[in-house]
Amino acid sequence: MHILILGGTSEASALTNALAARPDIRATLSLAGRTQNPVLPRIECRVGGFGGAGGLAAWMRQHEVTALIDATHPFARIMPFNAVEAAHIANVPLLSLLRPEWQPEAGDNWTQVPDHNEAISILGSAPRRVFLTVGRLEINAYTIAPQHFYVVRSIDPVEPKPLPNAVWLMARGPFSIDSEGALLKEHNIDAVITKNSGGEATQAKLVAARKLGLPVILIARPPRPDTEHVATAEEAMNWIARIHDASL
Ligand code: NAP
Repeated sequence: MHILILGGTSEASALTNALAARPDIRATLSLAGRTQNPVLPRIECRVGGFGGAGGLAAWMRQHEVTALIDATHPFARIMPFNAVEAAHIANVPLLSLLRPEWQPEAGDNWTQVPDHNEAISILGSAPRRVFLTVGRLEINAYTIAPQHFYVVRSIDPVEPKPLPNAVWLMARGPFSIDSEGALLKEHNIDAVITKNSGGEATQAKLVAARKLGLPVILIARPPRPDTEHVATAEEAMNWIARIHDASL
């Protein structure tokens, strides 16, 4: 048995940790190579694109992969569709490991929007003070609204820095509610913009915003293919165990 995990998420990391404790199951983690210093797994790892669905299918055949787990980020737009096509071509079972979306609670002041342009139009023309955590590669969308002050937080540095009036923070979650609240207060933030990534590691900013009565603009997830899916690494391990047992 050889499992290929398409990673880049904390769920993929949790799954690789669980698989590292199962020497009877061969597993490889695949990373796109976007993060400069990724947390490397204790299982085999490869880095870089496959060259589309056909390339992924060819890689799986060449390396005798018997099951594919798509644990890419909820905002990965291409890979989930490539995974479906490649699994079909290579005739291997596919599971999607996808964390649930954040849901609003009483006291939240959320506006959910389809994209960054809509988020910018909701900010309006008057200068605002915005906490922006949408990922380093998507900051450029905000250059059309340079009148706002931004606190931008990303895992890797943003270079070049495209916004004229901004503080650039680098940090990797998990974050605490207290530290997120302190950050929002320190910079007099009056709006939070983030993607509806879900997950516990970065949820604290939403709780801190609720406590401070701040509006949150949430970018909605892109469409995903309709595949068998689970939400946790533990459930993915159960799926792997079933396939493993069936192959004996
Ligand atoms: P994407 O739009 O779905 O993928 C773009 C291309 O990157 C794919 O066509 C594929 O190239 C390559 N790729 C993506 N994931 C890969 C993987 N796990 N292993 C090997 N190649 C991969 O994805 P993205 O939004 O650029 O995200 C890239 C990576 O960052 C993913 O691993 C994702 O989980 C992670 N990530 C994304 C976000 C986000 O907000 N988008 C946030 C955190 C982490 P080929 O077609 O050449 O195979």
